Amino acid sequence: MGEIITFTNQKGGVGKTTSCVNLAAYLADSGLKILVVDMDPQGNATSGLGIKKSNAKSVYDIIASKVAITDEGVIQHTCVDGLHLLPANIDLAGAEAELALIRDGRDQLLAQSLQEIKGDYDYIFIDCPPSLGHLTINAMTASDSILIPIQCEFYALEGLSQLMNSIKLIKKFLNSSIEIDGVFLTMYDKRSKLTVQVEEEIQKYFGNKLYKTRIPRNVRLAEAPSHGLPILLYDKKCSGAKAYNNFKKEFQKRHSEVSYE
Ligand code: ATP
Ligand code: MG
Repeated sequence: MGEIITFTNQKGGVGKTTSCVNLAAYLADSGLKILVVDMDPQGNATSGLGIKKSNAKSVYDIIASKVAITDEGVIQHTCVDGLHLLPANIDLAGAEAELALIRDGRDQLLAQSLQEIKGDYDYIFIDCPPSLGHLTINAMTASDSILIPIQCEFYALEGLSQLMNSIKLIKKFLNSSIEIDGVFLTMYDKRSKLTVQVEEEIQKYFGNKLYKTRIPRNVRLAEAPSHGLPILLYDKKCSGAKAYNNFKKEFQKRHSEVSYE
């Protein structure tokens, strides 16, 4: 049975999409079957995996019940073997408002669809928009766990307590089994005093939930999406690629330990 993991942090530009796409690509490259669900109207995970956002069926059509997730062509193949995508497009921008108008069951819509295909994948990763609205709530309601990227900067800790509170509420009212898988540091620069200070704070707060792998700032990671490629196909020798490959190993190690408990 697959595990569904949401990548979330309501702070914008912290590396949610970059991490979701690249961890997914490395896991698929090691032979696992992975689905990325692009839950962000910006569609960055979609374009970052080289899929056109235009007229393809998207996660919007799933939550608006216009198509079934199992319909032909809804889930698309990507440039990496074993890595599939449920795309987003701009239609999803209207979903937030539409969901606000529905009362019953609006937060379970994605969960219901993903249950139908969960068994087909080793991992399903959901890339969230930078907000704690209904799209993110749908993602967290559908998930077994949450991965939180944190950028080491002055305002990093601001907003984390709000996120923790939202997770607590999701656990209480919508998804009692959800857990924090972990947090990890992105755009890490060990020469910066601020980075080290933020790192110490996060370590204190999250303890062993903090992954040991640090994702450095690396321009190749920022270039890869404009070519529609994950870093392992764009430049697998750069420092960013090595970091995400190490992150994959640490992720797999943690997850195998969990399942043997
Ligand atoms: P949003 O909140 O808008 O969805 P996000 O949290 O998904 O943003 P990304 O889109 O992954 O963040 O990253 C923000 C920007 O920083 C992007 O332009 C991306 O290419 C770049 N970026 C991400 N990680 C790194 C890194 N380690 N080094 C250099 N640039 C990076
Ligand atoms: Mg993003």
